[in-house]
This record gives sequence, C-alpha cells and structure tokens, in this order.
Amino acid sequence: MVTPGEALARILEHIPAPDATERVPLSEAHGRRLAVPVRSDVDLPPFEKSMMDGFALASASAAQAPARLRIRGESRAGAPFAGSVPAGECVEIFTGAELPEGCDAVEMIENVRRDDAWIELERPVARGQHVSHTSEILAAGRVVYSPRRRLGAADLSVLASCGCDPVEVFRRVRVSILTTGDELVTPRQTPARGQIREGNTYFLAAACAELGAAIVRSAIVPDQPAALESAFRAALEDSDVLVTTGGVSVGKYDLVGAAFERLGVEPILHKVAVKPGKPIWFGMRERTPVFGLPGNPVSTLLGFELFVRAALARLAGDEPELERERLRRGRWLGPPERSGDRQNNLPALCRSGADGVAELEPLAYRGSADIVAAARAHALVVIPALGQIRPGEMVEYRPLGSYVGNA
Ligand code: AMP
Ligand code: MG
Repeated sequence: MVTPGEALARILEHIPAPDATERVPLSEAHGRRLAVPVRSDVDLPPFEKSMMDGFALASASAAQAPARLRIRGESRAGAPFAGSVPAGECVEIFTGAELPEGCDAVEMIENVRRDDAWIELERPVARGQHVSHTSEILAAGRVVYSPRRRLGAADLSVLASCGCDPVEVFRRVRVSILTTGDELVTPRQTPARGQIREGNTYFLAAACAELGAAIVRSAIVPDQPAALESAFRAALEDSDVLVTTGGVSVGKYDLVGAAFERLGVEPILHKVAVKPGKPIWFGMRERTPVFGLPGNPVSTLLGFELFVRAALARLAGDEPELERERLRRGRWLGPPERSGDRQNNLPALCRSGADGVAELEPLAYRGSADIVAAARAHALVVIPALGQIRPGEMVEYRPLGSYVGNA
C-alpha cells in the first residue's frame, strides 16, 4: 500500500495542466487564472502628472527664491492647460492633472502665499517635485502579469488600467460529483428505515467551488451496475474531473471501480495507507481524472484534502502543494495515541499557544462517519504509520481552515 505522499505524487503524474480558455468580462474575472500575458496599451501614468494640489512651474523659475511668479492659468484632472508656461510664470494645478509644457515641478498649495494673480515662494523647488513621470509605474507594451496568475481584487484594478477587458482566462475546471448508495436520501427527505441523509455531495460541491471549480452535476446514484455506468458515462462526457463517493471497498455492493473500468477508465490506485479512507480509487480516462472516494463523510473529506484539492489546483493552472508542504507543526495536548500500519488522522481544535506555537486539542471522535467532529475541527492531527504521539510533543497536522464555518 502506498503512503498518502506517494499516492499524491503518482496521481499528479497524470493530472494535466489546463488548455481550454475563454474570454470573460473583467467584472467577472475575480479569482480566475490568466491564460495569456497581460500588457498595458498605454503608459502608466500616460503623462507627466501632478501628485498634489498646488502650482506647476519650471524649477529654474524658483532657483533664486524667494520668488514671485505670475499665475497664467489652470490645469485640472481631465482638462489640461493648453499652452506653454514661460519662465517666471506658473499654472494652478490639481492632483491628477497633466503638467503643462515648460514646467518640471509642483509646489504644494500649503507652501505658497497667493495674492490674486501672483504667488510667492519662500524656498527653491526641486526639479521633479510632486511629479509622477510618464510610464514610471508601467510602460506601454511591458508584460505586467504572466499566464496562470490568479486574479485578485487589486489585479482587476491593474487590468482595468491596462485596458484589458474582456480578459482571456482558463476555463473553470468542470467537476461532476456523484455519491453512490441505495441507502442515501437528500436532506429534504425523511429517511425511511435503513436510510440516511447524504452530505458528501454538499461538502464536495462547496469545497470544489471554493477552489474555483464549476459544478456540472451533483447527484445520488443507486448501487446498480447499469445506473452507475450510465451516470458515470454522462459525467465523463462533459467534466474535466469526476469525483464519486462510496462503493469503492471490497463489499458485494462496492461496484464503483468495476463500473469505471467498463467505461475505459485506466485504474492507477486503489488503496492508500491512510485512516480514515483506505480504499481510494484513482484512474484516468484520457485527460480526465477520476476519483472514487470512500463514502464515510470523514473519509470523503480527507480524500478531498489529500488528493482532489491538489488535482483541482493543477487542472486550474496552479502548482499544487505536495503532502509535505501542506503539513504544519504544533503541540499535541491530548493523550498518547498510536497508529496501526496506516497514517492516522484525528480531528482536533487548533489554537495559538502563549509562546506562539500552535496547540492541538483532541475532539471527541467516533470514527470516519463522525462528520460532526470533523466539521468542528480546525485540523487533523497526523500520526505516521506505526507511530505514536505523546502529550506535549510536537506533531504534524493538516489545517482544515476552509472547511470550518467558525474557526
Ligand atoms: P461505502 O463507502 O459505500 O461503503 O459507504 C461507507 C459508509 O458511508 C456507509 O455507512 C454509507 O452509508 C456512508 N455514506 C456513503 N455515502 C454517503 C454520503 N454521501 N453521505 C453520508 N454518508 C455516506
Ligand atoms: Mg455504499
């Protein structure tokens, strides 16, 4: 059986980078990934620009300060002064306005005595003072962002300045989520005898959407070969990744892996040395990764955290974090715990201790069906295979920040 780290490395060998792109309005580009380099079509700023309210002048006119300069006119944002300013004169100017011809500096209004059509300067004015020079922020034609950058709120402002609307981004990763089991009903149904309400599709849809994916479908499929096959076939047709839950263990009604194989999904992994959630099925059909996660909700959560998260990152154009990079270190406040031959993951609260070190406190936990404990947890404490953790010891944990409503 492979370790979680080995399994992730093997999975990532198969996950393709994105290729399909689309043009979206800039107003809808937040969180999307650029598919092309971005260049500005103008210089930023596009002209010599005043950064202050005051007076524009040639610094030479104030070299012999104190000096008296005549006010020839005004230049304001959006309405530049038309003419040229001769030596010994100035123009009243406002923040964002173009510096008139003949001027190379601005003196702020606070440092000037004004009477009528004249100003008086006490001190000389340095050349370039309070002037933002043409193209000093960004020159026209220069690449400001490379492909794959994920666009944050401030990036949208940059793209707007560059005239980049619409913007070419990678298409959202299209995910299909199918949960399997004859016992499963929706949250709006009252479970009959032997039935339970299913929550995995809600978890997975939210977790995938948080990473920017588009959910193509999310449904319950019964444990019947024909039903599984037709639901999977439809999903493989219009999705970039298929995630299923349940039906991947060794029971008589665990029919998911066989259905995948009948549809030509090449099996790559079927078991990972991790608890909860050992039976994890992974395969590829052409460019489409297929994840069969076990049905218990904490197993589903861990399977997503371990593998699906990284795969979605790669499919979207990000470099995924490896297992080692995701784990952090903190102090275990619980009792001694041991693992068996698989890495164990225990839900815990995580707080910053007095010395700034993360402190991990165990939660009451009833095993892989206990989504209540996992949803409360800030972290899963990792006990390596054949390992143990002792009170007060530094241990590794997986942060679960984004799953917790109220962390
Ligand atoms: P399985 O992986 O199909 O053997 O299912 C393992 C356990 O998880 C069973 O107790 C199932 O009833 C339960 N289970 C399966 N799918 C879901 C789901 N979508 N939500 C909640 N529990 C589930
Ligand atoms: Mg089942």
